[in-house]
Amino acid sequence: PLVLGIETSCDETGVGIVRGRTLLANTVSSSMDEHVRFGGVIPEIASRAHLEAFVPTLQQALETAGVTLEEVDAIAVTAGPGLAGALMVGVSAAKALALATGKPLYAINHLVAHVSVGLLERDGSDVAAELITDDGDLVPGLGAVLVSGGHTEILRVGDLADDVQLLGATIDDAAGEAYDKVARLLELSYPGGPAIDHAARGGDPAAFKFPRGLSNAKYMGTVESPGKHRYDFSFSGLKTAVARVVEAYEAAGETVPVAEIAASFQESVVDVITRKAVLAATENNITTLLLGGGVAANSRLRELLAERCAAHGIRLVVPPLSLCTDNGAMVAALGARLVSRGVGASSLEFTADPGLPVTAVSVP
Ligand code: ATP
Ligand code: MG
Ligand code: FE
Repeated sequence: PLVLGIETSCDETGVGIVRGRTLLANTVSSSMDEHVRFGGVIPEIASRAHLEAFVPTLQQALETAGVTLEEVDAIAVTAGPGLAGALMVGVSAAKALALATGKPLYAINHLVAHVSVGLLERDGSDVAAELITDDGDLVPGLGAVLVSGGHTEILRVGDLADDVQLLGATIDDAAGEAYDKVARLLELSYPGGPAIDHAARGGDPAAFKFPRGLSNAKYMGTVESPGKHRYDFSFSGLKTAVARVVEAYEAAGETVPVAEIAASFQESVVDVITRKAVLAATENNITTLLLGGGVAANSRLRELLAERCAAHGIRLVVPPLSLCTDNGAMVAALGARLVSRGVGASSLEFTADPGLPVTAVSVP
């Protein structure tokens, strides 16, 4: 099926178009530049930017794909999770398009969409989609680790249409959010991820011993008797520990060793994410692990996750970065999957749900 996907859950306005598993267009407009001076995404600004960017982004995507709205078989839109006002812009636009064209509308889950990009064929049709077997089925034993400004989750995916389970998540800050907050403490630019990634290259990751959140026996438990937070994350204690170190240097009138702190902070984040992802995988029969979200750009995360997955016989799938960050192609990819699997379209009465649980792949 020819499916148009709309994404507006955070600061990216994305429209993607797929034909089955073939990617035809992936147009993204980001309002990140407008949030820089505030050091974080401002919901009101993001919503307004979606309203301004939506029509041009849609037109660009249709032009790139070489298709018209009339030819589209279905429309898919992110219903949640995400920022309420931002989601509402995409949902309203999608409902209007569905009403005007009479096309079926699929209200879908942003997190499951992040995993669905693995269905898309790379470089046209000559490279098989990484999450599809030779028989055209979803690979068995699929899991995902999603790390972005708003998310840090480990998922198990039995079926993209109706069987997604949340194994672990952050109980406070998201990984990208921790990068952004620590970058501010170190007086580095926003967004903090790329700035810390860069600064860390010149530092010793063992210079400071920063805490590994929820990693002791009390939270982890054992295989036989797992702790409540065995696969969960916490980054706020780490952020506080970094703040204490910075304060101590400042109080002593000494130069803050930015590279050493950045490298040590990054090692703590990446160590916990990769260790827990691999643990969750080995204990839940996950043999293929997809990495998604903007933090997937992190060089150390990619390196350590690849190393640890290889050591445990887990196949690691890292989509191109343009498909890891928020985009419309992932929404279209999941929409096309739902259409192919015969899942019914959503009623036009659904609303955006900022807290949509990952188990709800689509909203009826
Ligand atoms: P959502 O949470 O809904 O997926 P988002 O817009 O918050 O959306 P992304 O755009 O996917 O998230 O990712 C942005 C985040 O990724 C920011 O927090 C940024 O600091 C982080 N990031 C980007 N590059 C890197 C990097 N090289 N290392 C670490 N973090 C990075
Ligand atoms: Mg973003
Ligand atoms: Fe996202």
